[in-house]
Amino acid sequence: MEKLVLASGNQGKLRELSTLLETLGYLVDSQASLGVPEVPETGTTFVENAIIKARNAAHHTGLVALADDSGIEVDALDGAPGVYSARFSGINATAESNNALLVEKLRNVPTSELTARYRAVIVFMRHARDPSPIICEGCWEGLIQLEPKGDGGFGYDPYFFLPQNGCTSAELSAAKKNQLSHRGKALRQLVKRLRGE
Ligand code: IMP
Repeated sequence: MEKLVLASGNQGKLRELSTLLETLGYLVDSQASLGVPEVPETGTTFVENAIIKARNAAHHTGLVALADDSGIEVDALDGAPGVYSARFSGINATAESNNALLVEKLRNVPTSELTARYRAVIVFMRHARDPSPIICEGCWEGLIQLEPKGDGGFGYDPYFFLPQNGCTSAELSAAKKNQLSHRGKALRQLVKRLRGE
């Protein structure tokens, strides 16, 4: 099996991706366990940040690297918080403080203009100088609601309303969220590309 470094410290992502990538012949290790230093996410797009993280992990380990970047884009805020989704309300941001700021900024926006989408980008880089990494993207359309609902998921989920499902993404089971989500879509695309389909 070929070793692969995952440029994320998130245990949940590590677990989920390890299983999937093992079926494709990769043995996954987190960058933290391999002593890779964190790199500043200086890009202004998801794809730039995912490339920066994958290249950093490949550079420090000499291994194939996988990185992802995701966030939420709100049309009434010109796409913000976008790549700043995790740190929308500052460096010590929490999901609660981010959501409070989101609600405050959208309080006077008509409901019909509360369109938003989650985006995820996954980058698979064969080595640090790979000129054509595999780039997969997933998008999930919804509306921001100003009252939270549901206790599943994380981040902005209690405020992300899905008109087609009649609930927020925090009200979905983990399996259903995976089936519909931006990350699920990007991941399934990656699997296809790695299988050469
Ligand atoms: P990262 O890609 O792990 O850096 O996540 C970026 C940020 O985007 C998260 O901290 C959340 O604020 C937001 N985000 C990304 N995906 C989701 C999701 O599926 N649900 C809720 N928030 C999300």
